[in-house]
Amino acid sequence: MDETFRCYACGTTATGTDRQRCPCGEPFWMDTEPAGFDWPTDGDCSMWRYRDLLPDVTPSGLGSAAGGTPLVRTTRLDESVGAEVHVKYEGGNPTGTFKDRGSAVGVAAAVATARDAVATVSHGNMARSMAAHAASEGLDCLVFVPADIPKERLTLIDRYGPTVLRVEGAYGDLYDESLGLEDDHSVTVVNSDSPLRVAGQKTTGLEILASFAPEAPDAIVVPVSSGGHASGIWKGIEELLAAGAISERPRLFFVQAAGCAPIAEAWGRGDETVTPITPDETVAYSIANPDPPSGNRVLAAAQATDGGVLAVDDEAILGARRTLAEQSGLFVESACATVLAGAGRLADRGDFAADDDVVLVATGSGFTEREHEAPTVTAPTVSLDALDSAVAERIG
Ligand SMILES: *Cc1c(COP(=O)(O)O)cnc(C)c1O
Ligand SMILES: [Zn+2]
Repeated sequence: MDETFRCYACGTTATGTDRQRCPCGEPFWMDTEPAGFDWPTDGDCSMWRYRDLLPDVTPSGLGSAAGGTPLVRTTRLDESVGAEVHVKYEGGNPTGTFKDRGSAVGVAAAVATARDAVATVSHGNMARSMAAHAASEGLDCLVFVPADIPKERLTLIDRYGPTVLRVEGAYGDLYDESLGLEDDHSVTVVNSDSPLRVAGQKTTGLEILASFAPEAPDAIVVPVSSGGHASGIWKGIEELLAAGAISERPRLFFVQAAGCAPIAEAWGRGDETVTPITPDETVAYSIANPDPPSGNRVLAAAQATDGGVLAVDDEAILGARRTLAEQSGLFVESACATVLAGAGRLADRGDFAADDDVVLVATGSGFTEREHEAPTVTAPTVSLDALDSAVAERIG
């Protein structure tokens, strides 16, 4: 692997396998040569279809199954968004979220550079995804979690057999601390905005754009936390424009949960940098990063694409999650129901026209999530003899 890294903010470049951050403090992303790119026509339906724009690595395990998720035209949601709605359903990935796209690249790179292990700072979907991909390639996986992690979350991560370390101290500092481990140990660190991860997660954007090319959708709405996924989608769009593969830039809108919305708050103030906050509780815990490492890059992406960043409250999130299930048949994590709630707000503000194509990125499946509601669901009981009349009463 002989990759070049470039800083989106100041243009500084670097080479080598374990560069994570520019001296200016902003994250690097991987440079590519989009000039010769053309839409692939081979039969590969996974994200590796876009290998020309990916680091030069080949997964041999689970990574080969990442990406290639469906884009569902969800006509029944049009009314709540006031536009033509499409949902990119990332629950179709092997561990149920888009994180598999980044893990696939990160783990394949660890194999290509003969590292013994991969590591990640996460207590949620990314930890699970890394553990699964490492398991399939026979690498050790170190997962650093906060010392007070709830038992249910630990159980979900443990399924794939990683080495979990509960780390005491400020969780935010651990992120930076972990990056240095690459220098002294045979490990590739793939955190939420690591260049390898962002390179893989770029393919969410490439796949969406492929469905509309050479046109582009009018807007893409994405839930955002660390900003790694958002950064990747933005990068993908810029590469396709540079390659002449799309003619227009879709607007990128990013949604946070009101309880933890440092990027939306910075956007609202017109700031170019994000200030860390002390968060409140939110049901959207997968997007509750109070000190997002790629927050500034998300602001830049919203600015460059004439989009925006907004926050929605828990009531709106849970309502949207229910609406998505009942009107599109897609059961998603609360963290991604933010996109429907957010799109509704944008519609109210007049951001969409009725014939706009609006893509909501449903970043993860709801099947891995514990329920927030107390178990209050009931259903009527009927005897076998009364079944026929009970059906007649309901559907005639
Ligand atoms: C990680 C995650 C996000 C946020 O992605 P970032 O790259 O951290 O901004 C959104 N939704 C789900 C389901 C996630 O697991
Ligand atoms: Zn820089």
